[in-house]
Amino acid sequence: MNSYLSLVKDVENVTFIENDDLKSRSTAHVGGTAILSAFPRNANSLCKLIEKLKKGNIKHCVIGNGSNVIFPDGIYDGVVIFTKKMKEVVFDGDFVTADCGVNLIYLSAICAQRGLSGLEFSCGIPASVGGAVYMNAGAHGGCISDVFENGKFYLPDGRIETLDNSEMTFSFRKSRAAAEKFIVLSATFKLKKDEISNINSRIERIKKVRAESQPIEFPSAGSVFLPSGDTPAWKLIDGAGLRGYSVGGAMVSDKHAGFIINTGGATASDYSTLTELIKEKVKNIYSVDLQTEIIFIK
Ligand SMILES: Cc1cc2nc3c(=O)[nH]c(=O)nc-3n(C[C@H](O)[C@H](O)[C@H](O)COP(=O)(O)OP(=O)(O)OC[C@H]3O[C@@H](n4cnc5c(N)ncnc54)[C@H](O)[C@@H]3O)c2cc1C
Repeated sequence: MNSYLSLVKDVENVTFIENDDLKSRSTAHVGGTAILSAFPRNANSLCKLIEKLKKGNIKHCVIGNGSNVIFPDGIYDGVVIFTKKMKEVVFDGDFVTADCGVNLIYLSAICAQRGLSGLEFSCGIPASVGGAVYMNAGAHGGCISDVFENGKFYLPDGRIETLDNSEMTFSFRKSRAAAEKFIVLSATFKLKKDEISNINSRIERIKKVRAESQPIEFPSAGSVFLPSGDTPAWKLIDGAGLRGYSVGGAMVSDKHAGFIINTGGATASDYSTLTELIKEKVKNIYSVDLQTEIIFIK
């Protein structure tokens, strides 16, 4: 048993995996091995686990669906906490409260089935609720902050607080949770009633657009860069002649130049080298500093 496991093994309601292969745990299929992965089943266990890791000064990170992260190559010398087993969903009239590990595509689908509208924009975003709140995920004219009522957060000082929308300083793909390193435990969304057929037709339309415009047939971490003002990053990348450009197994998608796809065997180093190269070229041509949206886990 490794020393990290011996420190945290008595935290209840957590599944542990030693020497865990991280490749299969992100949508980009990149990364090495975590000394320990942990899968808490409720908020209490998640908080207790983090408390112990902090006390033991052990490196750790919290991961939802792994759809916006690149895990490091080699060994992650710490504990990767995955929220995917925290999956309670509670409906209350027009409100739905979901644990941080609930899959957003699933949540959008079950809200639609109940005639609750508001999450259609997220029907194709492969996020967890926690990751989506943290990143203020959005698409097709909607985003999390449009429907976020309040959420429960574990703060760096160990307190658990409920914060409402006005306290979250949401902006494009940004939130107070990310800025201040809050752990999202659960979130409540305010939806509104609509005909199921109307909701479903919006979902079908969005799914069609996404399938036509995004390289969903390849592993990726979604859009790599934030837009520069009103200009989407893919336009600048395309203009710099980088569509289809590759480093090792990482390639600027032919279909959507804002995505870097894993064509097979891509490493975090391939992703990082290609990301830096894109930034440099775009800076030289357009004098624009592209900001990275994807997160390289260190
Ligand atoms: C094919 C594809 C399409 C995509 N399309 C879109 C899109 O249309 N719109 C969009 O906005 N994004 C899109 N993304 C990106 C991604 O889905 C979002 O950024 C999403 O919000 C990430 O959620 P996640 O649960 O996967 O987070 P992860 O990748 O697991 O983590 C992302 C960050 O959130 C943090 N985090 C995760 N869970 C928690 C938690 N409970 N508490 C605190 N921090 C947490 C992690 O530490 C990390 O820093 C796409 C990605 C892919 C692969």
